[in-house]
Amino acid sequence: MHADTIFAVASGAGQAAIAVMRLSGPASRDLLGALCGRMPPPRRASFRRLRDSDGAELDQGMVVWLPGPGSYTGEDAAEFYLHGGRAVLSGVADALVALGARPAEPGEFTRRAYLNGRMDLTAAEAVHDLIAAETEAQRRQALRQLDGALGTLYGGWADRLRLLLAQQEALIDFPDEDLPPEVEAQVVAELAALHGEVTAHLDDGHRGERLREGLVFAVTGRPNVGKSSLVNALAERDVAIVSAIPGTTRDALETRVVLGGVPVTLVDTAGLRETTDEIEAEGVRRARARAAAADLVVAVIEAGDEASDGDVLAANKVDLGGGVPDGALGVCALTGAGLDALRTRLAEAARALTDSAGPPPLTQARHRAALQEAVARLAGAQVADLPELRAEDLRLALRALGRITGSVGVEDILDTLFARFCIGK
Ligand code: GDP
Repeated sequence: MHADTIFAVASGAGQAAIAVMRLSGPASRDLLGALCGRMPPPRRASFRRLRDSDGAELDQGMVVWLPGPGSYTGEDAAEFYLHGGRAVLSGVADALVALGARPAEPGEFTRRAYLNGRMDLTAAEAVHDLIAAETEAQRRQALRQLDGALGTLYGGWADRLRLLLAQQEALIDFPDEDLPPEVEAQVVAELAALHGEVTAHLDDGHRGERLREGLVFAVTGRPNVGKSSLVNALAERDVAIVSAIPGTTRDALETRVVLGGVPVTLVDTAGLRETTDEIEAEGVRRARARAAAADLVVAVIEAGDEASDGDVLAANKVDLGGGVPDGALGVCALTGAGLDALRTRLAEAARALTDSAGPPPLTQARHRAALQEAVARLAGAQVADLPELRAEDLRLALRALGRITGSVGVEDILDTLFARFCIGK
């Protein structure tokens, strides 16, 4: 349990009808009582007038008393639904500080939830992803992870590994005793099975990570075939959804759209020209690198031209009467003809690249690194010459798995992990 009682506005910044202020820590009950005069019953929204220690009214609204350990953080906590104005919020904040609370750090509520065993690290990461989710598919993936899909998967492997380690240690400690002869065979078989399952999970085409981070589609083709016009036409309907999200580059070369519920950055290689302008040159360099690593290439030709390489081929300017090669989609950026079919084709491709039907996909580079470590150790265990070496490899594999859910040795990563969160979460 943490000595500090923390508070933060959990709703968005700026003036609003209602703002949610949350409070967590051992002094929550006292602070709530001091502000409200009369304690509200647990877990029920109650109307109260909030007053500072001089008795001056700060606001009136709903408050909820959330005694631990059944709260989000696992501690005694409270929520205030205040009028969302600057003076109200700063008044309540000042009163809380005067009573001994302090403002929360980014992610501190979720960090406490993790430290108090309310959720594992994969669920904590899912909270962050859910807040950052821009599209339906991202939301579904984050919710699934929040529900424990990955925690259960990785925790299940860790349980099996722990059993394996126990069997292996029995083989070491009692080599001459009457251990059933099949124990050794069981260990070997289970080790191979685990190695196979983790390897298959890693070999998922990065579906979950791609969905989380968004896809990159490069739009390529000769100058003047209409690449920019097509990107603009594709973006017209979709782009407004995501362009306001901070941190997403959206310069002349990159356009964010949503295709099949997946965020997609269209990199328009038409913009890839030589330039002396430093900032533009950096944009060009970045776009070039992004296009080279693109998840999909949309090749654009002019109707009448020969087909060219690409995952999706669009023959533009069909209005000029040229023929459309086999396998290409005839489109016209000017009139919009064929654009729906192109959009559908791209959406299908985006869904196929991120398809999360079936077992839950890996979603984070952090998890991938730990799983790769685990696989390497499991492989080592399979070829270890000595029983002791096999046991050591199993222990290291178990540690690697434990780091994902946060059951072992993660103190060093917690600061980095929770610093990405918003204050109030
Ligand atoms: P980019 O260099 O490949 O990006 O090509 P642009 O998008 O800049 O287009 C080059 C020229 O082709 C412009 O003058 C566009 O107006 C024109 N253009 C683009 N799409 C079409 C189309 O579908 N039909 C016709 N007739 N002209 C088009």
